[in-house]
Order: sequence, then structure tokens, then C-alpha cells
Amino acid sequence: MNERVVVIGAGLGGLQCAYILAKNGLRVTVLERDTHLGGCLQTFRRGGILFDTGFHYVGGLREGEALYPLFRYFNLLHLPWQMLDEDCSDEVVIGRRSFAFAAGHERFVDTLSADFPAEREALRTYARFLKNVGDHMYDAFLPREAGDFYTTSLFARPAYDFLAETIHDPLLRQVLSGTSLKMELNRESLPLYAFAQINNSYLQSAWRLRGGGQQIADHLAADIRSMGGEIRTGVDVTAIEERDRLAVSVRTRDGERIEAGTIIADIHPREVLRLMAECGSLRKVYRSRIQALEDTAGMFTANIRLKPGALPYENRNIFVHHETADLWRHSSSQTDSVMVSFYPGQDAVDLLTPMRWADVAKWAEKPVGKRGEDYVEYKNGKVEACLRLIEQRFPSLRDAIESVHTSTPLTYYRYTHTHEGSAFGIRKDWRSPLTTILAPKTPIPNVLLTGQNLNLHGLLGVSMTSVLTASHLIGMDSIVKELGLGM
Ligand SMILES: Cc1cc2nc3c(=O)[nH]c(=O)nc-3n(C[C@H](O)[C@H](O)[C@H](O)COP(=O)(O)OP(=O)(O)OC[C@H]3O[C@@H](n4cnc5c(N)ncnc54)[C@H](O)[C@@H]3O)c2cc1C
Repeated sequence: MNERVVVIGAGLGGLQCAYILAKNGLRVTVLERDTHLGGCLQTFRRGGILFDTGFHYVGGLREGEALYPLFRYFNLLHLPWQMLDEDCSDEVVIGRRSFAFAAGHERFVDTLSADFPAEREALRTYARFLKNVGDHMYDAFLPREAGDFYTTSLFARPAYDFLAETIHDPLLRQVLSGTSLKMELNRESLPLYAFAQINNSYLQSAWRLRGGGQQIADHLAADIRSMGGEIRTGVDVTAIEERDRLAVSVRTRDGERIEAGTIIADIHPREVLRLMAECGSLRKVYRSRIQALEDTAGMFTANIRLKPGALPYENRNIFVHHETADLWRHSSSQTDSVMVSFYPGQDAVDLLTPMRWADVAKWAEKPVGKRGEDYVEYKNGKVEACLRLIEQRFPSLRDAIESVHTSTPLTYYRYTHTHEGSAFGIRKDWRSPLTTILAPKTPIPNVLLTGQNLNLHGLLGVSMTSVLTASHLIGMDSIVKELGLGM
């Protein structure tokens, strides 16, 4: 039997699985179809400025916080992380009012209570709840029946109801939702687990990576190679082949056949089905279940190169919302919410706002760079709408612009290969956790899934999931010990 583990996709999830397995002495080969590693961590250069594609910031990197043990394990703490301002790491602007999110649960409560004195106790309850969820994050690594875990936990509770029950002032609810462009706020479906876990980590502390997210992928790759792992780029996997109900190899676009004892797929599960089209043992019921899953909306990004010194760097994120914006109406195409993110050490700023695939689908079949004037006009209109929304907060931004590069879900699909340019993968739904929140195991025992489409998206969620996936091959005990969790 061939004991090589083949990992399809060198996004964060694929690289982290390879890292864990190589560290534990397994033979790993990572195959990435792009010429660059990293998937949504990729950076690109325009006019001398290094821009991020997906990832912009993480939460909880201080000792004792959510991401710290994972990033220590993955040897990523030494990267040039820059902590955002402790007294305001995220600023939420709604209409003419502005609210600060301070780092640390107590400071967070104190700061917002100054704006909402009648809600101090409710804010305490909110923060305490988030902290408690975060403190139990690693319970996911304890042995249990997956079904029980998903149906009895916060995966099966609605985030919106929790917010509505805990916070009485509608404006404060908006404020607390206001930093959540990093997930799809969907009143009907968003599980409380995702809302609480992600927001908790950013309340602990928030960090940018000076020099861009690509460094995460590059450092993981260098460590994997130094531990004997193999990473190949420009290798597009087009099929998974099976014999006697087990996967035995992958086929690449160039016709190469690579044998595998186990396959880990860091790609969209629907894409896995496509690769397994010829695998008879993948039953119709599983295929239908995966095909029926919906995806979260995509993102529009304007990467803005600024004239030197024309707009001072701000060590915080600014989330600007129109005062009538309904933040829980998912995948809105109206430009009523924009995230503004600066780059440390560079004259540059990004504007991000949700965008649906449907809004750009009519240009999907056209080749890159030849999508026509109407596509360019559509994108320019979106930039203009973003600038108008944030004008009051950034009155000098327009004059400070040197050039603008834009990305739509079509761009994300083309360069990061995320399904329909979805920003955060499969839409998890508290009403049906057992079908929308996938476990790493598939019906083929030696094909495992990983990445943002499973439990939780984002760097925190993907890192957690890579541990869960790798544990199917090497057990959880040694990883937990090395993570220093003492469970
Ligand atoms: C606009 C945007 C902003 C974001 N901001 C943040 C943020 O600020 N903080 C945060 O924590 N998270 C953020 N995220 C989410 C985060 O970036 C992702 O959750 C995470 O990087 C996903 O990693 P992944 O490994 O699951 O998948 P991906 O990054 O999608 O990687 C999958 C890889 O598989 C490769 N691949 C696909 N098919 C094949 C094939 N057939 N053969 C070989 N290779 C293949 C792809 O090329 C890709 O490299 C953001 C995402 C987006 C889109």
C-alpha cells in the first residue's frame, strides 16, 4: 500500500494539514494548481504596492488567546504581526456616529457602555458569553460523536436571536454587527457558533501582517519542505481514481498519475465530487447532499494606491455603514457597508464590500481583460458608491488616490478558485447543522476534506479544521500535547 498523503490545494488548510503530517513523519505531497501558494492568502503587486487578495487581519494572537496555540504550533508567531490599536482596533461608523471596539472584553464593555450606558449589563452578558464560547473552543478536539456535537451545540442556535435577546437597543445591535463583514450575516442561517467564535477572537486582540498574507503560506511551505514534504505548484488535479472502494491515485491535467494512500482535499466539496465523477462507490445520496449546499456571497475589493503621504495610515479597521443598512440581510448587492483596511508601511488602502456572483455572472464566460466596457463601468460604479459611502469619514481620500485596482467574485474565482468567488465557502445553517457543517470524513474512507468549507471559515476556523482533519490520520493526542492545550 502506498502511504503517501496527497493534499489537493495549497490554501491555508492544505498547507496546515501537510505541516502536521510531515511533522509527524508522514510522506506528504501537496498539489496546487496555481503558480502561487496560499489560495485566499495570496498577495499581488501593483505599482510597487503589495496588496492582499483575501485575508486582511486576524484576532487573538496574544498568549492565552484563541489563535495563539495554533499559530505557535504552525511556527507563524515570528512573522511581522502588527497589533491594531488597543483602544480602538475596529471602528464602526453608522451614519454620522462612530463607535470604538477596544481590545480585551472588559475594555470593550467599558468603551461601548460610554455610548450606551443603559446597556452596560447587556454588554457584559454579551462579552461574557463570547468569552465563554472562546474559552471552550478547543473542546472541538475532544472525542465525541460528530452528530451530537453539531446538534446540541451552538452550531444549532441562531446568531441573530442571541443578539436580539441579549441586546435591547437596536442601534447597539447594529454596532455589534458592524464589524462582521468577515462573515456573512444572515438572519435566517448564521449559527451562533460562527458569530461568537470569530467575534470573540477579534475582541481579544486584532492583528495585521506587515508584508501580506502570502508570508503565512510561504513559511508553512518552507517548513513542510524542511520536514521532507513535497509541494508542487502548477499541478491541476482533474480526477481522483479509486479501486475496491478506496482512492488510489490522482490524475493531473498533464496526464500524470500520482499514487496516494490517503487524499486530503482542501477544495470545495462540490469540486471533490467533480474529481470523483468516475468513482462508483460515492453514492448518489452523498452527491445530492453536497450539490444542494449553498455558498456565501463574494466580495468586491478596491485596492487603492495612494499618493505618497496623502492619507495618514490608521492602525485600525473602519467599517462604514449607511444608517439605514440592514446588516443581517445577507448577500446584499447594495453598497451600504464598506470595510476600510490600511497597509502598514505602504501608501495603500483597501475597500471591501459584499458582492454576489449573480451580479457579475453575465461576464463569467468572457476571458480576463476582455470582459468589455460595461464590466469596467460596473466596477467603476461600485468604487464610486464605496467612496460616496465613506466620504464623510475620509474627506481627503478621493484626492489622495493614485490608482485603483478592483476585484469581483469573478476575480476571486479566477485567481483563488473559490466556488463562484464565494468569500467564506459553504453557508453554514443552524437549522440543518448536520447537512451544512461537514466533517472531514467522506464516504470513501481514505479521502478527507479540510479548509473553510467545513466547520468555520477564516484563519482561525481553517487552522482548527486542519487539526481535526489531520487527527484522522495520526490521532488527536499528540497534536493536543504539542499545542500545549493540556486536555
Ligand atoms: C475577500 C476576503 C477577505 C477575507 N478576509 C479575511 C480576514 O481578514 N481574516 C480571516 O481570518 N479570513 C479572511 N478571509 C477568509 C480566509 O482567507 C479563508 O477562509 C481561508 O484563507 C481559506 O483557506 P482554504 O485553505 O480553506 O481555501 P483556499 O484559500 O480557497 O485554498 C484552496 C486552494 O486549492 C487550490 N485548488 C483548487 N482546485 C484545485 C485542483 N483541482 N487542483 C489543485 N489545486 C486546487 C486553489 O488554487 C487554492 O490555492 C477572507 C476571504 C476573502 C475571500
